[in-house]
Amino acid sequence: MIARIVPVLFAFGANLGDRGETIERAARELAETVGVSDFVLSPLRETVALTEAGPDPEAPRYLNAVATATTTLGAHELLDRMQAIETEHGRTRDIRWGDRTLDIDLILYGGGVVRDERLTVPHPRAHERDFVLAPWLDLDPGAVLMGHGRVADLLARIGDTTRPIDRTGDRDA
Ligand code: ATP
Ligand code: MG
Ligand code: MG
Repeated sequence: MIARIVPVLFAFGANLGDRGETIERAARELAETVGVSDFVLSPLRETVALTEAGPDPEAPRYLNAVATATTTLGAHELLDRMQAIETEHGRTRDIRWGDRTLDIDLILYGGGVVRDERLTVPHPRAHERDFVLAPWLDLDPGAVLMGHGRVADLLARIGDTTRPIDRTGDRDA
């Protein structure tokens, strides 16, 4: 059987613990998953926390990154793996958009559309999030978000509040 090879985009976020270390370890674990290849992690960027009440400058700031890869796994198999990695890194789900050690979201699964109780792909809020668009643009200046157009245009429209940081830690670049 010839497996289908699907390009995918992941988004990572963390605002508790050693944020950069967590994202880099989680990315390595995802990259080493059987059925995941060509994994490339973006530079890390820092942003003010987005909560249900809006941006919260008092909350611990986030580090964010995205990664491109290809996969022969199904979208739900990927989600299982992403959630296992989140759990392993101490992720709990108490308050929606609350502080967390690690969030991994599936932004795109090829040109696929998934909409069920576990998974919505393309991610419905990616187009309005500078912390997804800016690191994606770092990886691919010509990136296009399915259904929304050029990432550079989307980011210009919403404004970029992210700040590049040193890849090796939480220090300033
Ligand atoms: P947001 O999706 O707005 O970024 P969040 O990442 O904080 O919010 P989580 O608590 O991580 O939300 O996940 C809540 C649920 O969202 C999960 O149980 C998961 O099944 C579901 N989900 C739906 N679509 C996706 C997706 N594209 N990527 C990751 N999880 C998803
Ligand atoms: Mg999220
Ligand atoms: Mg999530």
